Amino acid sequence: MVRKADVVIIGAGPAGLAAGLYTARLGLETIILEKSALGGQVSVAPFIENYPGFVRISGEELAKRFIEHAKIMGAEIKGGEPAEKLELSGDVKKVITPRNTYEADAIIIATGASRQKLNVPGEKEFEGRGVSYCAVCDGAFFKGKTVAVVGGGNTAVTEALHLAQLVKKLYVIHRRDDFRAEIALKERLLSYSNVTPLWNTIVEAIEGDNVVRRLKLRDLKSNKTYYLEVDGVFVAIGMIPNSKIASEAGVAVDEKGFIIVNRRQETNIRGVFAAGDVTGGVMQVGVAVGEGIIAAMSAFEHVTGGWYAKKKVLKAVKIDFSKLGEETKEPRETLFKFKL
Ligand code: NDP
Repeated sequence: MVRKADVVIIGAGPAGLAAGLYTARLGLETIILEKSALGGQVSVAPFIENYPGFVRISGEELAKRFIEHAKIMGAEIKGGEPAEKLELSGDVKKVITPRNTYEADAIIIATGASRQKLNVPGEKEFEGRGVSYCAVCDGAFFKGKTVAVVGGGNTAVTEALHLAQLVKKLYVIHRRDDFRAEIALKERLLSYSNVTPLWNTIVEAIEGDNVVRRLKLRDLKSNKTYYLEVDGVFVAIGMIPNSKIASEAGVAVDEKGFIIVNRRQETNIRGVFAAGDVTGGVMQVGVAVGEGIIAAMSAFEHVTGGWYAKKKVLKAVKIDFSKLGEETKEPRETLFKFKL
């Protein structure tokens, strides 16, 4: 089926949902496509303490708020619908999914980034059988057990902080002698008595039978290898951009595959914008939201020709506030302090 919209946004993480709430509220018919779970990477973050306005909130809760907000403002969110191919050369941009072809005047690519793999023997084989990339999703399976986290950035330490509260023993394996993660997270993690960092160490193989049993490690200082018995391993060694369909359609990417944008979030193709982790740089929820908003405003100008140009007659936006609280299950009274 062919569906037409003013803007199609690919990806329902913070960048895509922020963009969608803006374009919908500005009166553009907006469709957001998401291949897997709504909310993106943030929805599996154990906690977030640096998104302004929320001293501490779970990633899942923040994601629900983003989803609800975009929906209430009128964005149509279509989950489980992966964009498989883009045709971007003409004025009408096309997004092809297994079910539909979407045609739009503007496209916002907010496909995010995925976890970098270790690429060591056993990693692929034991994925889902002791190898995980998500502590919130899989941590509960390792309650009272011995696990390792690999990595030294904010993701590794945040995941480790979640796991430290569940497991008996946690090793954090890092190839340097200090974490790259923020000091606030790092010090909190090292205060747990069940956490042991293994500095200057890399994983060379993941071994087991039907599940993970041990890691083959190399101490980079002594250059010796040894085995560490574990029940599971969580890999958190950085992100790679989900930019393949965009680059295949002619969107320019840098040497690491991140989409190249200017300050208006414009790509090299007119009418095609990108926002969030897929553009690289500082990967923070607040940044993704900000870029999503800029992309939305740029898309609005592209579609309408600007506030007074009237290139396109927009429909009056009907915001359905009665849906407020549906997603977050929060009583409407606590969200609504004044009469509309
Ligand atoms: P980062 O790129 O920040 O860190 C990756 C870590 O993995 C580094 O310590 C790196 O080591 C290590 N590493 C990379 N490749 C390998 C490898 N092949 N073998 C072993 N170790 C390896 O990625 P993150 O996923 O931690 O974070 C991504 C972005 O998201 C960052 O910008 C981060 O700040 C942000 N983020 C922010 C959060 C927050 O603000 N609360 C929470 C989570 C993420 P080395 O240091 O030696 O390069």
